[in-house]
Amino acid sequence: MVAPVFNEDGNVDELHRRLTRVLAELGEPYEIVLVDDGSTDGSFERLDRIHARDAHVRVIRLSRNFGHHIAITAGLDAARGELVVMMDADLQDLPEEIPRLYARLQEGFDVVYGIRTEKKHSRAKRLASWGFFGLMRRALAQFEMSAGIFRIARRPVVDAVRECRETHRFVIGLMSWAGFRQTGLEVRHGERHSGETKYPLSKQLRLALTTVVSFTALPLQLTTYLGLAVAASSFAYGIVIVLRKVVWDLGELGWPSMMLAILFLGGVQLVALGVLGEYVRRTLTESQARPLYVVAETLETPAAAASLPLTEAG
Ligand code: UDP
Ligand code: MG
Repeated sequence: MVAPVFNEDGNVDELHRRLTRVLAELGEPYEIVLVDDGSTDGSFERLDRIHARDAHVRVIRLSRNFGHHIAITAGLDAARGELVVMMDADLQDLPEEIPRLYARLQEGFDVVYGIRTEKKHSRAKRLASWGFFGLMRRALAQFEMSAGIFRIARRPVVDAVRECRETHRFVIGLMSWAGFRQTGLEVRHGERHSGETKYPLSKQLRLALTTVVSFTALPLQLTTYLGLAVAASSFAYGIVIVLRKVVWDLGELGWPSMMLAILFLGGVQLVALGVLGEYVRRTLTESQARPLYVVAETLETPAAAASLPLTEAG
């Protein structure tokens, strides 16, 4: 099992406690991979202590905050199990639901993702993700609304996702892209156990932009449509100007309409440039091909390196 941890001081002990109970009950060998995404609140010290008393726990400390999806990727890279559970560390994804995901997987699937029946997020956040998922659904046929990171996946799917090394990444989308037999299962979604969300609206919007740009051609298409619309309306307007003069013999149109046309066109061009620029910038970062993350430290107990069918990463 894999979980990313960013300033989850008040959650990691409880997470470990509940996970251990659930995973031990499943009766399969397991490991718990916790990725410290540059926490500054003492989360790492807590993880260190957890690791010291439980050989199932492996801790990957990243050298700084790289972001949720990169932290998850680091967890997936580290996970060794045949099956991998991914979840958030704030206990919004309930460890107690893992056996249900696992049972569903055994019915012949490669990925079982949790569908949150009742989201315990703020209203603004739900609205934003509703719009975002609506977009994604149009782009990726098998993209599921209301699925979070909480899921269980088999090794081939995890490896397919790991092969995608883009810097701007959305792991849920990549997994959906990977194919295989996927299905959803309704899971309860809890309140954050402790602390504040690490996903303010700004980060959420950035993730949405990443997803739209890397999984759809929408911005480019919209720019094209906008250009076509402007061209068509200026053509129509041109006819009006000619008619005004030739048929209706009205006076000249002066400065205001000229200004309007110049400003409008200027605006449209800047927007189009901005869209293009965004693509160029992303092409640049991807072509630089820097490592996705830098590991500062790994805590693991060597004896735990045995075969591990169940891995948690979050
Ligand atoms: N997280 C992370 N790096 C970040 C932001 C968040 O590893 O830069 C982790 C965080 O610790 C949590 C998970 O990602 O385990 C989801 O974050 P959060 O619960 O704040 O998001 P929300 O549930 O509010 O969408
Ligand atoms: Mg959360």
